[in-house]
Amino acid sequence: MVIDGHNDLVLKRWQGEEPEHVRLEDAAAAGFAGGFFALHVPSPHPDAGEHDLWSQPFADPIPFAEAAPVADELYDVLGSLPVRRAAAAADFEDGVVTAVVHLEGAEAIAPDLSNLERWYERGLRSLGLVWSRPNAFAEGVPFRFPSSPDTGPGLTGAGRALVRACNRLGVLVDLSHLNEAGFWDVAAVSDAPLVATHSNAHAICAASRNLTDRQLRAIRDSGGVVGVNFAVTFLREDGRFLPDETTVEDIVRHVDHLVDVMGIDHVAFGSDFDGAGLPTELDGLRGLPPLVEALRSRYDDDAVAKITHGNWLRVFAATWR
Ligand code: ZN
Repeated sequence: MVIDGHNDLVLKRWQGEEPEHVRLEDAAAAGFAGGFFALHVPSPHPDAGEHDLWSQPFADPIPFAEAAPVADELYDVLGSLPVRRAAAAADFEDGVVTAVVHLEGAEAIAPDLSNLERWYERGLRSLGLVWSRPNAFAEGVPFRFPSSPDTGPGLTGAGRALVRACNRLGVLVDLSHLNEAGFWDVAAVSDAPLVATHSNAHAICAASRNLTDRQLRAIRDSGGVVGVNFAVTFLREDGRFLPDETTVEDIVRHVDHLVDVMGIDHVAFGSDFDGAGLPTELDGLRGLPPLVEALRSRYDDDAVAKITHGNWLRVFAATWR
């Protein structure tokens, strides 16, 4: 059973496109039991494409009044998919696709948090304060390579209040797409395990989106998890978009480093399916079984089970009410 930290199937569907990676008809054969389904309000300028990722300008803010109706549409798209909604760790089972409702960027949350509980009642169980653009709560990390993740200021007062409110409700707070100052602010405020749903090791790939060993140790110390991102540009040492020359072994290399720094209890998957360009040989759900096989050649069954689903389930149980 695989539980995954990030996919953008909902955005694909909202854009009227067919999924490239999360073809739900492949889920059973791939052992895909779901995971985080992102509701992400896209930035208005068209995506320059993965190969130009590092030359993209820092995205402009999207005001609440513009973002909220789009997020409602994304939520309806999620509701139209044949997936179950997760409210407890026990909701995940083999042979069923279960979705953690995840806001990637909190633009659809009012800066006074007045609609947060309504989102919780609708099933929201995970929230990233920012995507890679500033908002009322924090400043995201721009896509830069090579670059430290320390690119700007941390959380605003509203951002700190949002973290506390998520702790109170039992909503997981996601650190992926946050800059380093924001990361340490969340670490100081939050009383829940620290989680980066789809980020990699900065020691291997020096992208602004990846996590330094110091950040990884803070996640470990909190009992949290990092979901390894399968995106070519966040895997490769050279940061280049070369999908044909990037392999499952590049993913395993990040897993190994994360395990070295944090231990086996803190590493999981965070594919970025349908949100990024992936290695050609791992182009969607059908690539999961070969990846799991590659891990089996290095880790025992218990360790593999923690990476594929056990660690996510532990964090859900520790975070959700
Ligand atoms: Zn993302």
